[in-house]
Amino acid sequence: MSWVASFLQKLGDEEVEPATSMLVSRVFPRWDQRVLEVSWATLNKIIREVANVSSHMLSNAFAKTGDVGDAAKCVFEKGKTRRQVMLLQNQLSILEVRRTFEKIVETTGAGSREKKERLLRTLFSSATPVESKYLTRILLKEMRIGFQEGLMEQAVAKAFNIPLEVVQKTNMLTGDIGQVATLGKLEGTDGLLKVGFKIFRPIKPMLAQMATTVTEVLKKHGNQIALEYKLDGARIQIHKSRDTVKIFSRRLTNVTKSLPEIVQQVGSSVKVRTAILEGEVIAIGKDGNPMPFQNLMRRLRRIRNIESVMKKIPIQLYLFDALYIDGENLIDKPYNLRRQLLKIVAGTIPLTEQIITSNAKVAERFMKAAIRSGHEGLVAKKPDSLYTPGMRGKRWFKIKETLEPLDLVIMAAEYGYGRRHGWLSDYYLAARDIESGDLLQVGKTFKGLTDAEIIKMTRILKELVTLKEGHRIVVTPKIIVEVIYNEIQRSKTYKCGMALRFARISKIRNDKNLEDVDTIQKIRKIYEEQFKKKSRYP
Ligand code: AMP
Repeated sequence: MSWVASFLQKLGDEEVEPATSMLVSRVFPRWDQRVLEVSWATLNKIIREVANVSSHMLSNAFAKTGDVGDAAKCVFEKGKTRRQVMLLQNQLSILEVRRTFEKIVETTGAGSREKKERLLRTLFSSATPVESKYLTRILLKEMRIGFQEGLMEQAVAKAFNIPLEVVQKTNMLTGDIGQVATLGKLEGTDGLLKVGFKIFRPIKPMLAQMATTVTEVLKKHGNQIALEYKLDGARIQIHKSRDTVKIFSRRLTNVTKSLPEIVQQVGSSVKVRTAILEGEVIAIGKDGNPMPFQNLMRRLRRIRNIESVMKKIPIQLYLFDALYIDGENLIDKPYNLRRQLLKIVAGTIPLTEQIITSNAKVAERFMKAAIRSGHEGLVAKKPDSLYTPGMRGKRWFKIKETLEPLDLVIMAAEYGYGRRHGWLSDYYLAARDIESGDLLQVGKTFKGLTDAEIIKMTRILKELVTLKEGHRIVVTPKIIVEVIYNEIQRSKTYKCGMALRFARISKIRNDKNLEDVDTIQKIRKIYEEQFKKKSRYP
């Protein structure tokens, strides 16, 4: 961290933001909605051309290192090219890299692919092997390997002699560490303290921690707790200033165009001049019940010809928080007060169903009512809690219903990436089809097992291999696992037509045999049961 701090100190004013953004694996500052969209296929081609290596060499390097950045570095070190000369002539600078990213983004229309490739070729031709490694990671948004944002906050605090809490708070508000670093360098602590919300610049949403039951939450977290229905939809952050309404997704991308009726509804119902509100959008069927999540996604992905899909998949917004109203920042105000204010400004827009209780029985009944109405469960919120952007604290808890666990068999597995390199950590799960007797895939998961269990599983699966296909192995179906999941979705990928959503392994069932594996018919029954509470796609 301290080398990052001293590196930041040495940078020119204009370099601080791009360098900070790139260090956290971001091409542009967070508020900037432009995306590069460079695929691994393109990058793979460019790297091979510039390093002058075969595709075999690059895939070998990838298999050995398990990381695209390391693979790039490896082939650049090995590749015999004219690069040495070019490298001496032309050293990359931070601003040059940023300018190239901008040029790539601005290249559109006919012949744009060739132009983009030319820009990338020039970029990689001037990069050292280590620079290629990081450029590759940044371009492919390999966030997990980036310098952690929490560490970046510490580096910024240290570099510009600003209290860490101030840096953290400003980063929470702006959601953009690059901007915080620049302001910190130019104006110090005082500059950061002046930062407030900016309408139309989305902030990171507050997150919820997982809990298993409402009773557990009540026991652990005091007397009274607010409980809200947890709707299974898409979270949106609505920014309104006079007549303009913009909507951002949970990942802070601008989704205004795909939600015209919400824009219209907010415009006419929310009477205050400026506001930042949060809520969940769900798809509603003709019977008034929520539709499965995948129908909503089908709706949200559409940006053209929205009218037809608007009729087929109507959506409904439920608001649940207010972060800013008429110039006043509300995130340091308690939940109860924010909710009261939200009720006032929401106009005709409904709020999520809510109760405040200290009674476990009442809480359980409310949970059941949520499930009966086709929702996912509850979110429990502490009545006096402040809004902490981007944080998963002990103030909000999500309690979801899981469906009946299934015993499934592992039929294939894939090697993991990064830390899980060399481990078979991604498992293909199958159930038995009674009619044909075949094992059919119903899901895939890399969740649920501990590192030690994955290592052991790798050893066992390697002994059962029947076929190797690149990163994937097919195994004799022998290992039975208990799997939990949140929903069964329709699937075009799987032959059985269904897929488990959010599947994770809850237990390895050494005590079970292949005959004990659950059936496709049972899974279909659970799938159908869902529609007692949910609405079908018309
Ligand atoms: P998860 O996505 O499982 O981490 O659960 C948290 C998400 O639940 C939030 O990001 C919201 O999109 C969603 N959600 C649904 N209903 C509510 C609610 N009443 N309050 C807060 N979040 C909610």
